[in-house]
Amino acid sequence: MSIKKSRREFLAKTLFATAATPLLVGKTNKLFANSTNTTPIVISTWDHGMAANVGAWNVLSKGGRSLDAVEQGVRITESDPNVTTVGLGSAPDREGHVTLDACIMNEYGDCGSVAAIENIVNPISVARMVMEKTPHVMLVGEGALQFALANGFKKENLLTEKAEQEWKEWLKTSQYKPIINIENHDTIGMLAMDSQGNISGACTTSGLAYKMRGRLGDSPIIGAGLYVDNEVGGACATGLGETVIRQCGSFLVVELMRQGMDPTSACKEVVGRIMRHEKNIQDLQVGFLAINKQGVIGSYAIHAGFNYAKHDKSGNKMVDSDFALK
Ligand code: ASP
Repeated sequence: MSIKKSRREFLAKTLFATAATPLLVGKTNKLFANSTNTTPIVISTWDHGMAANVGAWNVLSKGGRSLDAVEQGVRITESDPNVTTVGLGSAPDREGHVTLDACIMNEYGDCGSVAAIENIVNPISVARMVMEKTPHVMLVGEGALQFALANGFKKENLLTEKAEQEWKEWLKTSQYKPIINIENHDTIGMLAMDSQGNISGACTTSGLAYKMRGRLGDSPIIGAGLYVDNEVGGACATGLGETVIRQCGSFLVVELMRQGMDPTSACKEVVGRIMRHEKNIQDLQVGFLAINKQGVIGSYAIHAGFNYAKHDKSGNKMVDSDFALK
């Protein structure tokens, strides 16, 4: 090869490299934006996600906004007294108070959250109002209730007879184990993509049954229980919240997707970090669910049993997640 030719090749490669570098480092969003999926889809954790997805699909299938879809979707779970870990009918804390946590994020990266709110059936709608009507992200406890009541929400008793009886039964031994086994976690985390290709997310729960008064889990914390970056994707978590908070779980899933990981690999990496950090993983379940800008879905959990509901134009169905401890 002549010196001239090899120099020409070198220059061409260098020019390509310098042109490509800012694209990869500074503008990864552009890469994603070019291949945005615009076929609506909604996913949500656990089997109560089936009914919630129908509510969300009602919005998405009419060309509605993903933010409205996730709010309408998880309201169904919150309002169902038979779901004992979200909204009305939830198990109380150890002193008998039903306290709820919820957060929401829209396609612009705006977010709102309420934590330890009592007597309000649909905390997700209060969280949305915090996002849209206040300069704040998060309201807690009495202040969150006061804000809800001032904005037209009704004060209701959330402790159903059944939940109260079960709590009284629990009081006989008051044995509290700060663990979650694979049968009893039921936070609903939901991610939706609309026909504009915009992603929003919602997360709502009563947290751990018989928790300490004042305990918050990951679910109302932006970046832990939920995170959405409309240029990359979204993620949500379920399981023992303390472990998710320690790793900034949902934020980390989204950041790993930003760096090029597919949604399942990103969820798997974060589950791996939790497993490396926590001592008693036999008694601990955590699951992540994620969607990227291309509409690809992924999930991963520590143990078997984590599943999610997925609704797109082909219908609504349950999908079993892959998991680490086989
Ligand atoms: N992540 C929730 C919490 O720790 C519980 C759950 O998903 O089951 O409050």
